[in-house]
Amino acid sequence: MKKLLPTSTAGSLPKPSWLAQPETLWSPWKLQDEELIHGKQDALRLSLHEQQLAGVDIVSDGEQTRQHFVTTFIEHLDGVDFNHRKTVKIRNRYEANVPTVVGPVSRPQSVFVEDAKFLRQQTNQPIKWALPGPMTMIDTLYDDHYKSREKLAWEFAKILNQEAKELEAAGVDIIQFDEPAFNVFFDDVNDWGIACLEKAIAGLKCETAVHICYGYGIKANTDWKKTLGSEWRQYEEIFPKLQQSNIDIISLECHNSHVPIELLELIRGKKVMVGAIDVATNTIETPEEVANTLREALQYVDADKLYPCTNCGMAPLPRDVSTAKLNALSAGAAIVRKELAAKDRH
Ligand SMILES: [Zn+2]
Repeated sequence: MKKLLPTSTAGSLPKPSWLAQPETLWSPWKLQDEELIHGKQDALRLSLHEQQLAGVDIVSDGEQTRQHFVTTFIEHLDGVDFNHRKTVKIRNRYEANVPTVVGPVSRPQSVFVEDAKFLRQQTNQPIKWALPGPMTMIDTLYDDHYKSREKLAWEFAKILNQEAKELEAAGVDIIQFDEPAFNVFFDDVNDWGIACLEKAIAGLKCETAVHICYGYGIKANTDWKKTLGSEWRQYEEIFPKLQQSNIDIISLECHNSHVPIELLELIRGKKVMVGAIDVATNTIETPEEVANTLREALQYVDADKLYPCTNCGMAPLPRDVSTAKLNALSAGAAIVRKELAAKDRH
């Protein structure tokens, strides 16, 4: 029988301090050339090992080989000039100096496929691989070529589909697209964002997920959250259409967030990765707190469709905090799994 409530993380985990400066986004690498290649592989092995020690069921690379979840993918594409930068507002929230799209975008070679093969060699557990979503990619660039957000997103969707097919062939079980931009540009999401995502997963036989969150626990995000009021109803705008989409799994921020949990009713029938770990605080959840979040979600998500997860990536957190949070996630899931088994017997 399949294990109920399989645990996983949203994606990124802290890197060892010999590879990159800890607790820093876009942290520069401390190694170079051959040493960097081997250092990244060693970090990936360590990250896998830590997930296994914590009892995580669906494991990942912890994004150890990338500097940033969007930028690293874009760096491998043609048509984007990283020397030609413009300042834009990312997700209407914070200014960043971003590269410019100067011509047709394309993927001259695969980006993460070798890393995925390496992870596949290390474990027989199910593996999940994260890619940026098309809408989040266009939001991290200045477009001087297509002059249309929708057109550029469509081109990225085609590129992501090529990469996803190769990841599937490399043995990845779940391919996840990170779309924090889905929580900001609701009209675009409904007009063409979900269609682009479906283009990105076209023809895949492995499972697919979309991760939609309120971002890392960095200041720009926590400041933005303060403006959202006491109830965060952003998900409500896009859930009806997502429920109708071909995406198998929806990964969400739930614990400590102001998202009314009953919004999950709008995606009933989908598998849901329920964020039960807050990544915006160093406070470690107790197993009972994790269990509570999962119990609440179980009112709207069938037990066989509920995947306990973190709210977002944990790359910016201290390593010991991230490890303790993974342990709490496993312990909390174990509590609820036991309750479900007891119910089953009665
Ligand atoms: Zn996230």
